[in-house]
Amino acid sequence: MRKITCNCEHEFSADLPDEVNLDRSPDILEKIADGSFLSCACPSCGAILHTDLETRVEWPSREMRLLLVPELARLSVLSGHLSGPEGFDVVVGYAELADRVAVYAARLDALAVETLKFHLAEKALDSVPDSKPLLTFESLDGEGNLLFHIHGLRDSEVAVSSVPLRLYESVRNAVGSNPGEEPQSLLRNGAYLSVQNVLFEGGQDD
Ligand SMILES: [Zn+2]
Repeated sequence: MRKITCNCEHEFSADLPDEVNLDRSPDILEKIADGSFLSCACPSCGAILHTDLETRVEWPSREMRLLLVPELARLSVLSGHLSGPEGFDVVVGYAELADRVAVYAARLDALAVETLKFHLAEKALDSVPDSKPLLTFESLDGEGNLLFHIHGLRDSEVAVSSVPLRLYESVRNAVGSNPGEEPQSLLRNGAYLSVQNVLFEGGQDD
């Protein structure tokens, strides 16, 4: 049971797990993807609350060990003050959890996907300067292309970008043979592997 405080200020205990194993509970995969994982209804006002409470999400058969930490802890993660247990990667906030689990579900390499996001974000900044592109991996489409959502280009619009599998494979090969080169060398900060570790400087001045 975990303690939750609703926006209506009601405090209650919710039956939410603090660790899950996707081999033992494969139904949770779908819940993570559709946004219903870690959500509960407030018994007082009935609101549905979507939480990002600290939770261990393991998928042993895919060698995935993730520690979800709340969005509120982002600064602590970026400054290196918050890490996960040995062998765990940290994901910050629900969207990053859903993104990373989708990467493992599609049997893709997380570092290669974050590297691809870096290139897509650079491209987005070229076409929409002063934007703050935020990319999430969604899934593979029927032809094996990687589908990304790009938030933050224009108000409340979500752009969809489709990346051919062979482009992903060439990035994965480049990352694998040159791990010390940029941008891939910049994408991991301790237990936190994310394009968020790189500050984009484009678009601020002409
Ligand atoms: Zn409430």
